[in-house]
Amino acid sequence: MRQYTEKKRKETEKVFCNQCGKEIRKQGEMFVEDYLCVEKRWGYFSKKDNEVHRFELCEDCYDKLCASFRIPVDIEK
Ligand SMILES: [Zn+2]
Repeated sequence: MRQYTEKKRKETEKVFCNQCGKEIRKQGEMFVEDYLCVEKRWGYFSKKDNEVHRFELCEDCYDKLCASFRIPVDIEK
């Protein structure tokens, strides 16, 4: 979940993990903790035709989610 400043340009002020609610750490304007950001516009052949869904996950919640996958995540190094 993102909270935006009310400036003319939409700047992300705060980011919270949608799963655990933790705020992603920031120092000044820079995030010092990485997170997953997902944005999906659902298509005509879904039950959510044209809805845009967004969420953020902290790294711990991302790891827990991935650990529940039957097929592991592809990792490129
Ligand atoms: Zn989390």
